[in-house]
Amino acid sequence: MSAMSSDRPVFDQALDAVLPILHDMKKSLRATPVANRAALDQLFSLPDSFLKKDPASPLVPVAPVAATAPVVATAPSPASKAAAAGDDGRLAKLAELKTKIIACTRCPHLVKSRTQVVYGVGNPFSELLFVGEAPGEEEDLRGEPFVGKAGQLLTKIIGAMDYTREEIFIANVLKCRPDMPAGEAGNRKPKPSEMATCLPWLREQIDLIRPKVIVALGLTAVEGLLGEPRTMREVRGKWLDYHGVPLMPTYHPAYLLRNQTMAEKRKVWEDMLLVLEKLGRPISSKQRGYFLEKGA
Ligand code: SF4
Repeated sequence: MSAMSSDRPVFDQALDAVLPILHDMKKSLRATPVANRAALDQLFSLPDSFLKKDPASPLVPVAPVAATAPVVATAPSPASKAAAAGDDGRLAKLAELKTKIIACTRCPHLVKSRTQVVYGVGNPFSELLFVGEAPGEEEDLRGEPFVGKAGQLLTKIIGAMDYTREEIFIANVLKCRPDMPAGEAGNRKPKPSEMATCLPWLREQIDLIRPKVIVALGLTAVEGLLGEPRTMREVRGKWLDYHGVPLMPTYHPAYLLRNQTMAEKRKVWEDMLLVLEKLGRPISSKQRGYFLEKGA
């Protein structure tokens, strides 16, 4: 799908051709057709002018949704609003970067085993970037970071911070799933050398998105970003620096799933309160008390 304004009539014709088919599918399947993540990402990478349709048209921009969720019409996403406020060219630059990243073959062993490159997801104008270590099996299949149980917990944390998942950006240090020895299931940690090879891609994403704060989820992500091993005791809850961007290391949500104590959850939440303070976001007394009160 080209984003050139001269292609607008072609784009309109394509929409006119596709919409009746979608309506027929909806009628015959008695369900709303589902768009995959890649298609939605492409839609959001279009200049805002492409998305200003006739108000009578049933197609309006939709916020990104999980690949299995039905697509529903909603208000324009933060990305399209920010773009409407004045795209500084970053959407086009990010689209160009994404094209390069998803075609990357720098790690031949991972190219062989991956289903797809997991580029990252979210608002390209986000003030907040969450960085994990690498895609697991589910992320590799879906093409989106943090979609399993740990991802659901991350989405809850983001919600407790009063953001939606679509308002922030989520990426990994390593963009391809680490390969597993033949016959072995599960996921393995990325090697430092693999992360070092992939890190320049994330660095380019950060340079374009320009978040005000980065949260590193887990020690492997911290090591990948900083290029040296650290201990969680040493770094968690303390501000570090990643090329001029404040960096907050905290536990990976998968760790919280394994250690579901109030004390560990509270540590992560205290880190998120520091993040909200750094971003100048209002913090309610309910938010301050999360995990301190019974049932919170
Ligand atoms: S892990 Fe990164 S550097 Fe390696 S092939 Fe995938 S995208 Fe390229």
